[in-house]
Amino acid sequence: MFFNPLTYSTLMKLKKYLWIIVLPITALGIILPGKTQQNSSENILFQTSTIGALSIGIYDGKTTFQELKKHGNFGLGTVNSLDGEMVGLDGKFYQIKSDGVAAIVPDSLKTPFAVVTFFRSQKLINLKELINYQQLQQSLDQQLPTKNYPYAIRIQGNFPYLKFRSVPKQNPPYPPLADAVKKQSVFELRNVNGTLVGFRTPSYLQGVNVNGYHFHFITSDRKTGGHILDGQFQNAKVEIAPISNVEVSLPESAQFSQADLGDGKSAEVNRVERK
Ligand SMILES: [Zn+2]
Repeated sequence: MFFNPLTYSTLMKLKKYLWIIVLPITALGIILPGKTQQNSSENILFQTSTIGALSIGIYDGKTTFQELKKHGNFGLGTVNSLDGEMVGLDGKFYQIKSDGVAAIVPDSLKTPFAVVTFFRSQKLINLKELINYQQLQQSLDQQLPTKNYPYAIRIQGNFPYLKFRSVPKQNPPYPPLADAVKKQSVFELRNVNGTLVGFRTPSYLQGVNVNGYHFHFITSDRKTGGHILDGQFQNAKVEIAPISNVEVSLPESAQFSQADLGDGKSAEVNRVERK
């Protein structure tokens, strides 16, 4: 236990505060009025650990991909030892190591950070004009009904240009993410067919997930991909699924419980993940 035993009267005095503490901690359950977890049309986001924990070098988790698949058929993240980028699409999960080669993730492999959902598109946008990555984000921002919910986003097309990266496997003692990505491999492809798998996370979840847009990519032949750094987009099909329920599975490890997660390390995360 984290707390000393409390007397009954002290507990009663604390009762109203306990609700304040307990409610947000309950798996960060954010449930919309009028909706319940049983609602079958609802998109639930499930993630393991936090981006803040990943950013300070907590690169080993206990969640296997076999377990992760129970929570989604679509998503992104990495695998233990930060051994590359991970993309989940149509129920298949791929690991793209720093050599840029994509391979199916074995069910027994574990992840320190993954974000998944059972993707059900609720809005379709056809992007016609040629735009860059920043313009894509601005365009989507303008077309979202609200920025107060997370969104899962799938973008399919033939992309004029994509720049993406993968990170090399790390050895303990693990360096922070900012140092690990200094040795990232960067790939550039032109006229490439494939799918961007991503999420837009509201800024109030900074430290839990990457603030704003975060996309991973995989080619249509499933041979390569990575974490998107830049690109050009034209005639792409964008499907959007709003998410009204977020479940965060926090690591039960000494590393996590003893780490200084401070305010979520959001400034550092944004520096590393957004460029
Ligand atoms: Zn990424």
